[in-house]
Amino acid sequence: MAVYNNETYSCSCERPVSDDYDELMKFNWTCPICNKKIRVTFNLDGKQHIVIRKRAGKLKKYNMVFYIDWKYHEILGISEVYNDDSKVYLRLRGFGGVPVPKNEYLECALSGND
Ligand SMILES: [Zn+2]
Repeated sequence: MAVYNNETYSCSCERPVSDDYDELMKFNWTCPICNKKIRVTFNLDGKQHIVIRKRAGKLKKYNMVFYIDWKYHEILGISEVYNDDSKVYLRLRGFGGVPVPKNEYLECALSGND
């Protein structure tokens, strides 16, 4: 089941992309043809968002994540979680620190490399 009820999917290679959430999940939210991240477009409160999905364990400092308060937050730092290597601890600008399972997908703003 999709996170947002009006999600659509595309890739910058402009080849047709599956519209099946579970299938895209299987492909790690990556285009099976060109290997770039799938772009997820949805509307929320009248505003269009275009994001990619990355596992929390693959995030990097300065990535902008669209988090549970439906706002974008810059990652200020990433560290280990004491006694739990299934999670990473993210420090988010304007939000604070939060431990997130490494396998969990978070939505990120597009950056120059995506
Ligand atoms: Zn592609």
